Amino acid sequence: MSQMASDTGAINLSQGFPDFGVAPELIRLMQEALEQNHNQYAPMAGIPALREAVAKMTSSLYGAEYDPDKEITITAGATEALYAAIACSVFPGDEVIIFKPAYDSYEPAVRAQGGVPVLLQLQGPDFRIDWEAFASALSTKTRMVILNSPHNPTGTVLTRDDLQALDTLLRPTDVLVLSDEVYQHLVFDGDTHQSVCRFPGLRERSFVCASFGKTFHITGWKMGYCLAPAALMREFRKLHELLIFSVNHPAQHALAAYMENASHYETLGGFFQKKRDLFLSALEGSRFRFTPAKGTYFQLLDYSAISSEGDLAFSEYLAREVGVASIPISVFNLNREDHRQLRFCFAKTRDTLLRAAEILRRL
Ligand code: PMP
Ligand code: GLN
Repeated sequence: MSQMASDTGAINLSQGFPDFGVAPELIRLMQEALEQNHNQYAPMAGIPALREAVAKMTSSLYGAEYDPDKEITITAGATEALYAAIACSVFPGDEVIIFKPAYDSYEPAVRAQGGVPVLLQLQGPDFRIDWEAFASALSTKTRMVILNSPHNPTGTVLTRDDLQALDTLLRPTDVLVLSDEVYQHLVFDGDTHQSVCRFPGLRERSFVCASFGKTFHITGWKMGYCLAPAALMREFRKLHELLIFSVNHPAQHALAAYMENASHYETLGGFFQKKRDLFLSALEGSRFRFTPAKGTYFQLLDYSAISSEGDLAFSEYLAREVGVASIPISVFNLNREDHRQLRFCFAKTRDTLLRAAEILRRL
């Protein structure tokens, strides 16, 4: 869709990345790191200062302690962390429970290991997990469950009750959890992010994957990290070492210094909530229907009052003929075209959001 947007000149609210600049301080820290000649290989697990910064943030936000030496690894984006966590845990015939709609890298990564994805549909207008259906899906072959909260593409967030239900259901099992928390700081309306690491029973069986790219508006740097208990992290690092060995060195120094100021991540929820509210209030009077996203920087819009076309066809029409690019949600493992919802990224400047909403209001 980004390619289509650039070919047609449509306003690009499709792929999830900001169209505004990076904090000048972070750019300056990156320049300093280059000048200080941090230009050779970094240590395999990441530089100690960045692993310590992650440990400190995780402790202060979620009350969970991770040992920077043995339980934290810096990765090439969350994408590498997700793949390495799956590849070091899932073996042929293992079942992996995935909730759909789901981010597009989970299912193919499971299949690449010979694993068997067990896809469960999120329920209702607010895309909740049906814990009874989950309990029935658990089998002796279940190796892992993949969670994503705040959730791409629906913008929903898991509650404390959800995680307690998961904790209880997994207690008698040795099922692993892969928790994709790349939007951990983007939770709105006074809510707080329920990281799996807040729950000791889940922490001990979980890989938590996160993204500096999503957090600090630097998706092109491809920087992320993984948290896991030492025994799981040992296996993870064997794969990390083979896949990539070590991650961009100057960026690690820049991020470690930037994270010393906690306001750089603590203010992100409010920042993106304002963007969501601006976009949605500018859509007032349009024929799109929506429930405001509770987290992430994505908003689903229901176009059933405008067209009965499938979402692939409608999103293409919107990009080519109307001038706004979005993502049809059927591409998130839904594999069918009976959805009348599109995903719009609101990590954009005020001007971009207002211009897009103005066009959408006319439909
Ligand atoms: N998980 C989800 C849910 C995402 O939306 C993304 C997209 N950025 C990723 C993982 C990948 O993150 P990264 O860009 O850090 O590889
Ligand atoms: N995570 C981003 C999204 O959902 C983009 C990542 C990608 O294009 N692979 O839009």
